[in-house]
Amino acid sequence: MPGLDALDHHPQAARIRSRKLAGGVATLVVDATGLDDAGQKALEQQLREAALALPGVSEARVALTAAKRGRTLIAVGSGKGGVGKSTLAANLAVALARLGKKVGLVDADIYGPSQPRLFNASQRAEARDKQLIPIHAHGIRLLSVGQLVAEGTALAWRGPMASGALNQLLEADWGDAELLIVDLPPGTGDVQLSLIQKARPAAAVIVSTPQDLSLIDAARAIDLFEKMHVPVAGIVENMAGYECPHCGQPSDPFGHGGAEAEAKRLGIAFLGRLPLSASLREASDAGQPPAAGDGPAAAAFADLARKLLVQLETIAG
Ligand code: ADP
Repeated sequence: MPGLDALDHHPQAARIRSRKLAGGVATLVVDATGLDDAGQKALEQQLREAALALPGVSEARVALTAAKRGRTLIAVGSGKGGVGKSTLAANLAVALARLGKKVGLVDADIYGPSQPRLFNASQRAEARDKQLIPIHAHGIRLLSVGQLVAEGTALAWRGPMASGALNQLLEADWGDAELLIVDLPPGTGDVQLSLIQKARPAAAVIVSTPQDLSLIDAARAIDLFEKMHVPVAGIVENMAGYECPHCGQPSDPFGHGGAEAEAKRLGIAFLGRLPLSASLREASDAGQPPAAGDGPAAAAFADLARKLLVQLETIAG
């Protein structure tokens, strides 16, 4: 039975939004987000040729969906929960804004949308002409799946429902935002896969704590992005080292340097490390992102943001 299923194995498969074969005519709708003119032409030609090579296809039509101008999506992921992925996504967004970027933050963590708490913004999302309107906080625009549903409701969602919600968040009125940071649910299952497929991020940032178990999960997350042809812009090591607030003695409850070594092993950039810090947790819980302040955490996040921008330029180039 002739069909277009073989296109699943094409290197550009993740960009195919829909496909149809009728009367020998293959019609593909393909997402060209992030590609320049030459890249779009090459993509169109590759997929046309791949479709024409299949049995039963005598004509191939490839429609490229309009790429959103100048907006770069960056997914923040982790192999498991509790490693500080949401904290990192929030503060990275604020730090990028402080470097002069126009930034939006999409909280797609259906298992525990924590951005409303991190920004002390619990109001429901408002819509105009069926389009959601992000709220403004600490110099960024923000929308969270937590603003769409009552707490705990999204937990049971499966892939299609999660990607429906993500669609609403991504299609919101992001105005002139040039960077959209997407805080993904932790883990590497079907939900994450369908969200990555939907969002088509230009790059991913992986957050891990330094110990071996967390790094195994982080490697799985990296593998997932690589399978989806999303370049990993770098790894961040969180909760690395602890300075006793009383005696000043440093210690390493979760080990030290594991993520940097893993990044090196995998040939991925290491963006930096953040210590385990009581003041960081307190400020986060109080809805005051430390990156918006002027302490050492703000400097550390600014450094991470600068390194990320360098990596994004390398990837775009
Ligand atoms: P995830 O998104 O990976 O599940 P969160 O960002 O929600 O993780 O962080 C989990 C908890 O750990 C939160 O209470 C957060 O404030 C705290 N936390 C995150 N990073 C740090 C850190 N570097 N130092 C101290 N606490 C942290």
